[in-house]
Amino acid sequence: MAFYILKIPPKEVEELARRIEEVQKFIKPCSLCNNFSTEEICSLCASPKREKDVICVVEEPKDILAIEKTGQYDGLYYCLLGSISPMEGIDGEDLNIHKLVKRVASGEIKEIIISTDPDNDGELTAQFLIQKLSVYKVKIYRLAIGIPLGTQIEYIDSATLGKALMDRKPVS
Ligand SMILES: [Zn+2]
Repeated sequence: MAFYILKIPPKEVEELARRIEEVQKFIKPCSLCNNFSTEEICSLCASPKREKDVICVVEEPKDILAIEKTGQYDGLYYCLLGSISPMEGIDGEDLNIHKLVKRVASGEIKEIIISTDPDNDGELTAQFLIQKLSVYKVKIYRLAIGIPLGTQIEYIDSATLGKALMDRKPVS
């Protein structure tokens, strides 16, 4: 960061400092889902157009942006602000899931879609969530691991292709 700041003109440094200050002052986690927000409750949680009994669980606010870009989802989100990471000494008990568990336990949520990253830490996090939430009356889904569109089978890595085969779905 120091190298970057040394390279840019002083005027831009002032602008950067102002923006950092703004982020710190005005952006806070949504009190319901932990998404970035300028209000107590973010625009997604507050929207009357969203399905209120479906929650997609993601690791970071940027994952919410990615899913919103698909235009395929109109439920709510819950952002963990991290994942289980044995390398960094973060286990399930350190995860920020209390507000999520409380909502599921209250019976207001019918469906949970676990959308943590398809890597080691994301899988551990998904397993932990399944264990914590399956005691309640809620349907739990894991985001499907698919083969990328517009590609050819021969170029897909074998881990992804193997998972796609395991998760095959009936078409007739
Ligand atoms: Zn929210």
